[in-house]
Amino acid sequence: MNLDGSVPWAKRVSDRWGHWGSTMLLASIAAAILLCLRPLPAGSLQSLVVPLVVMLFVVTSWIMMRQHDRRLCEHCMAAMPLNPAEQATRYRLRFLVTHAGANRRILIGYLVVLFGSNVFVFYGCLSGRLAWTVIQSSMVYLVLSYSTHRRLQPWCPWCSDDGGGEEQVDEPEPLPNDSWQTV
Ligand SMILES: [Zn+2]
Ligand SMILES: [Zn+2]
Repeated sequence: MNLDGSVPWAKRVSDRWGHWGSTMLLASIAAAILLCLRPLPAGSLQSLVVPLVVMLFVVTSWIMMRQHDRRLCEHCMAAMPLNPAEQATRYRLRFLVTHAGANRRILIGYLVVLFGSNVFVFYGCLSGRLAWTVIQSSMVYLVLSYSTHRRLQPWCPWCSDDGGGEEQVDEPEPLPNDSWQTV
């Protein structure tokens, strides 16, 4: 914070970027998939610069999102649904996916499939590319699941003491319950 009490612009930008980090990630995943399916002309300047920019964007968004996810910012609080318990019931599958992702063996298996699917692209046939697109698109659901779990974590049955889940998700601390009352 500056001496006059204002928040530095760099911090404001990183806070905003972090808050929208999951959306940025979704957009960059879509852009990366498009770039693979419709590559830019080989040897052109764009074919070198654009993938690099997308990759940098993904990494930066990921870092910003992780920093932001240590807490719920004021924008998160303002966007908190009025019926979180109801929403949590609806998004049980996303909670399950998030906890499955915290299981190292499942995660490694998923990454093997994710990277292994790149062989489909080399074959170049339509069905191979379709399979690759479907597998890569699963990352979208993963990001959505992670984001939903973070917002509604206090209502996640697998995080609660009696939920029966054993996996601990590397998640930010949700705000204490008394803070939630102020929204
Ligand atoms: Zn936020
Ligand atoms: Zn959970």
